[in-house]
Amino acid sequence: MSSDRQWISTREGAHLRARRVRDTQPEVTLRSAVHRCGLRFRVHRTVASRTTADFVLPRYRIAVFVDGCFWHGCPDHGARHFRGPNAALWKEKIATNVARDERNTMAAGAAGWTVVRIWECEIRANVDAAAHRVLDAVSRVA
Ligand SMILES: [Zn+2]
Repeated sequence: MSSDRQWISTREGAHLRARRVRDTQPEVTLRSAVHRCGLRFRVHRTVASRTTADFVLPRYRIAVFVDGCFWHGCPDHGARHFRGPNAALWKEKIATNVARDERNTMAAGAAGWTVVRIWECEIRANVDAAAHRVLDAVSRVA
C-alpha cells in the first residue's frame, strides 16, 4: 500500500481486510450446481501467469471466477456503499482488485481460455441461473 493514509482499525475491517479465501460458500454452492449439471471441473487452476481460476472445465477450456461483491467491486454491493473511516482506502483497494481482475481475464483469454465471471450475489440470488451461465459457455465452445 503506497498510500500515506492510515488504516483505522474497525471491527468490520478485521475480517474484510483478510486476503481472499478459497472455497468460499458461494464458490462451493456454484460448483455443486455445476456438478449437478454433469460437468466436471478442477479447482484452483493456474490458467495464465499470476492468474488462478476458481475452477476450470479443462475439456472446454473454460475458466470460472467467482467474484465476491465487496472485494471485486460489484456494481450493486461494492465498496462505493462502504461507509466508515476507511471508505476511501477501501475504494482504492477495490479499484486495484478490479484492475487486476480485468488483467487476469485478458491473460486467461490470451492463453486460450473462455472466461466466465460470476458475482457472489448472482449465486445467492439463483444458483441454477449462475450455473446456467457456465453451461451457456460450454454450449458456445462445444
Ligand atoms: Zn453483488
